[in-house]
Amino acid sequence: MISRGSRLSKLKNGETQINLYLDNIKQILYKRVRCGYCGHVLRYRTSSSRNYYFCRTANYTDKYGCTSTQYSEDEIINIVKTVVKSYMDIILNLERLSTDLKQTQNTSSVQKIIARLTGEIEQLQSSKRLLYERYKKGSLDKETYFKDRESIECNINNKTLERETLSVHNIEQEEVLNMAHCFFGSFTQFQIGDEPNAEVINSLVESILIFDRDKTKVNLSFAEKLEKALHALNQSL
Ligand SMILES: [Zn+2]
Repeated sequence: MISRGSRLSKLKNGETQINLYLDNIKQILYKRVRCGYCGHVLRYRTSSSRNYYFCRTANYTDKYGCTSTQYSEDEIINIVKTVVKSYMDIILNLERLSTDLKQTQNTSSVQKIIARLTGEIEQLQSSKRLLYERYKKGSLDKETYFKDRESIECNINNKTLERETLSVHNIEQEEVLNMAHCFFGSFTQFQIGDEPNAEVINSLVESILIFDRDKTKVNLSFAEKLEKALHALNQSL
């Protein structure tokens, strides 16, 4: 195990920032690396040549199919960093997309249709007033007046209903996009291409399940939120 003393002495000897930072990541992974088969936290061993993890369950039962393979710590760190970095880059790109979508939302085609319908409804209402004035003056007989008025009212009702449906849809769309934008926005403290540091990994990685040298599953704390945000974004496109 790396003791606090050894880390401090390394620091005094002019250890680089990168090594110090790798040390931090090691500390974090230590508690989160689990066996993919039995689910137990993997044991950690240090040696002068390399540090590694292994599943102790394999020593006393093969019930779960655990192996006694030693998994290099450096390899695990690289996998975790690669996975986190690729997710961060994807999310930051999606953040740009959601920002663009929000900016165009106000001038969206739906809003234009709503504005057109409003204009048409206003025009129909003024036609209805004019029709009444003509009837009052006696230039229209009662039957024609009722028939024309009914036709205009029917038109107004249809257009009002259409406008309301579109408005509700538009508001829902806005809320859905806001939710996605809020999630993606929580990543804007990072830049595309940033290397995830210990702090980032600490906050984003829930656990690492190791099945094999070639099969590792990195569970991310935001997976569920990302899925919802992606669904929301998809709806807004
Ligand atoms: Zn195991």
